[in-house]
Amino acid sequence: MAKLVVSKFGGTSMGDADCMLRSAEVSFRQGSGLVVVSATSGTTNDLIALGKTAESQAWSESEKILSKIQDKHNKIAQDLKLPADAKAKLETLFEEMSSLAKGMHLLKDCSVKAMDTLMSLGERMSSVLFTEAMSQVLKKHGSAKSAELLDVRTVLRTDDQFGKAKPLTNDVANLCQKNLSFLREGKKVMCTQGYIGMTEEGITTTLGRGGSDYSAAILAEGVSADVLEIWTDVAGIATTDPRLCPKAQPISEISFKEASELATFGAKVLHPATLLPAIRKNIPVFVGSSFDVEARGTWVRMDVEDHPLIRAMALRKKQVLVTLSTPEMLYAHGFLFQIFKIFNDHKVSIDAITTSEISVSVTLDDSTLLNKNLIKDLSQIADVQVEENLALISLIGNNINHTPGLGKRIFETIPDINVRMICLGASKHNFCFLVADEQGPEVIKRLHACFIEAGIEEMA
Ligand code: ASP
Ligand code: MG
Repeated sequence: MAKLVVSKFGGTSMGDADCMLRSAEVSFRQGSGLVVVSATSGTTNDLIALGKTAESQAWSESEKILSKIQDKHNKIAQDLKLPADAKAKLETLFEEMSSLAKGMHLLKDCSVKAMDTLMSLGERMSSVLFTEAMSQVLKKHGSAKSAELLDVRTVLRTDDQFGKAKPLTNDVANLCQKNLSFLREGKKVMCTQGYIGMTEEGITTTLGRGGSDYSAAILAEGVSADVLEIWTDVAGIATTDPRLCPKAQPISEISFKEASELATFGAKVLHPATLLPAIRKNIPVFVGSSFDVEARGTWVRMDVEDHPLIRAMALRKKQVLVTLSTPEMLYAHGFLFQIFKIFNDHKVSIDAITTSEISVSVTLDDSTLLNKNLIKDLSQIADVQVEENLALISLIGNNINHTPGLGKRIFETIPDINVRMICLGASKHNFCFLVADEQGPEVIKRLHACFIEAGIEEMA
């Protein structure tokens, strides 16, 4: 049976006709059976602006944004010499976009539910264009395969949390089994949308910004793919953010566990939840650049060959440290339960945590505090202290909690920097600590020089 490859291309890989053709070449070379695409770069933002403008401003303002979006897609259509049937599909989507915006304008309402349908148009438009690019590339290479457009909503069933819908994995698997089992025959390249899905009632949903990676992983799981490829504009996962550290190096291989920690703790390459479906089905994930296919890229797998002590490091900015203290915690039980219950009720995810006998400190993204009720509810059971402008530094690697001397090396590198909190021990793959936000980049630079550039990881 043919190997089944699911490939995802992000917005910049869909930037214009050339980008689309280049991405289609990559898909051809990789033998992709299912290609998942994002909206053309900037379009999702434009659609959000369209919804907000339609709701609150004169209609002429919305018309400007509508024209901008249409012009961009028409230009790609023209450059690709889009055939009449595909052109007609694009026109229908333009009409839908303008009707939806008009509806929002008349009702003065751009609820999340309505916005999801409006935002779905970004991926629905780009996928029509990309299918044509894929067709042309297959033809050029004399391939017997055909490229076809798939409406992902026929398989990507979600719940109805609009704006952040959750895929219903069992339903997705059943629908993929029913509608996409032909993929293994290797005769067709199906081109489809990332980011969007549909409820059982047939209402369009989105998975949250940047959700196309996640869509691709969910689909890879649904069709039991052999490989999931995430093609973006950087050549794989780097040892740290190259904007912080010009000497950051590409990582050729990283384990699922390390990569999940890295994604959660601030590396921008992968959507944090992306890996979960791949982990569930043990599908290796490749991250590469559609602009530089010769670059090696990064493989993310269950088992990897080398296990360096420190493989990568990440900086997560704009953190707050919330410390909850109460004397009632002394020799008592149930306090952590009460605290976690409040975080749970507010659907807040905690990143790092430390405790002492009468207090607990947790780190949160500062945007969490926009929800004023969280602190109010916590204040009912404890004294609450909030420290802002912090950054979480994470070192990701292997055997971190069983390596003598690691802490010494880390802190020797930053003797002049105050460390506000340290988290070590829960995972052998992560050591993280908090510093002042403005010192974050400097700390990463020094640690990178010490652990990656100097090759000290060999001490593992
Ligand atoms: N187009 C969506 C966004 O910009 C999804 C994605 O690109 O992954 O958020
Ligand atoms: Mg994107």
